[in-house]
Amino acid sequence: MNSLAILHASELVTLTGAKRPRKGAEMSALGILRDGGMLIGDGKIKSVGPSDEIEKNCGDTEVIDAGGRVVMPGFVDAHTHLVFAGNRLDDFERRARGETYEQIAKAGGGIWSTVEKTRAASEADLFTQAKKRANWFLRCATTTAEAKSGYGLTVEDELKILRVMRHLTEKVSLEIVPTFLGAHAVPPRMSPEQYVDLVITEMLPRAASEKLAEFCDVFCERGYFDIDQSRKILSAAKKLGLNLRGHVDQLTNSGGAKLMAELGATTADHLEQTAEQGIAALKKANVQPILLPASAYALGSSRYPRAREMIEARLAVVLATDFNPGSSPTPSMPMVLSLACTQMEMSPAEAIAASTINPAYSVNRGTKIGSLEPGKLANFAIFDCEDYRELAYWFGLPQTHSVYVKGERVV
Ligand SMILES: [Zn+2]
Repeated sequence: MNSLAILHASELVTLTGAKRPRKGAEMSALGILRDGGMLIGDGKIKSVGPSDEIEKNCGDTEVIDAGGRVVMPGFVDAHTHLVFAGNRLDDFERRARGETYEQIAKAGGGIWSTVEKTRAASEADLFTQAKKRANWFLRCATTTAEAKSGYGLTVEDELKILRVMRHLTEKVSLEIVPTFLGAHAVPPRMSPEQYVDLVITEMLPRAASEKLAEFCDVFCERGYFDIDQSRKILSAAKKLGLNLRGHVDQLTNSGGAKLMAELGATTADHLEQTAEQGIAALKKANVQPILLPASAYALGSSRYPRAREMIEARLAVVLATDFNPGSSPTPSMPMVLSLACTQMEMSPAEAIAASTINPAYSVNRGTKIGSLEPGKLANFAIFDCEDYRELAYWFGLPQTHSVYVKGERVV
């Protein structure tokens, strides 16, 4: 059933290695096979090896000649806000004219404009908009994306967003990993305490009992949810069986990384302001840092997270897009690879490990996706280049040739 052989990859970037996230120098070992090939059956990788060996064993299997192009695992984007209504084009133009966040919010922009549009959208309309964007991810060779709620901020609207994610997973080839982010902002006319209470007593139990989320996230930042409120929400989520992620230390170094370490979170995300102590805490608790350079770039900031120090501290670093309408309107992992290499001193190899195998572990799917090894899902992309480093080097140029999910061509 649907067997397939891929032959003649200039580089088959396998990322074969230890069955755990890659750290330190391991992030540079991509397990590249020159003139490599793969045999695929029933949606999974059956074998990987030199093309001539694969060819000998492929019988009457359908053969795809990669034609001397790079073949890699599909990207795993471990931090996105995929489901929202509308866009923030007016904010974008105001920012380009030099207006501040406060001026933009006063003019009716900012996160509230997205919350209002998302609340007003029907579930079907929201699904149509999200489906279009899910296909953008596939075109950029991302085959799995984590996605957060957080633009509803009422019980019903948050659940609506999570249901759209479930529907997407059923209808689109992009695999969605759902995260509940009810604590994205405090709605107007509610005190933070009242809202935290609503999240803990109503939203979280419903999201968990209806199995709509695998993870819980919180925006831990001054003016949003402080350390104590974040701890309350995440502890409640943990009791309900959800794993934890967190938006921390983005605008201020407020001890968010340390909180994620204390709670045994799976990931700590953003970390633009995290310093030595936070890095040491993440290391001690084995929390994966998720770095989002596209949001620093899109906001015109020069403050990028300290990727080099994190890799040297042997943290299993992850790169992600932070796709969202306000601060990071890009679904493109190749763009993120470029930023990682030009702004954060990561090598192209480290950036590839941080966008495939390491994020696969960060969404609890490390044994199924993220590398090209026998037994894993045949989720991979063929790129129009001969050397994997070209993906980070030629920026702004789509290099996707074709994309496969479970052995089926989807782009
Ligand atoms: Zn985010």
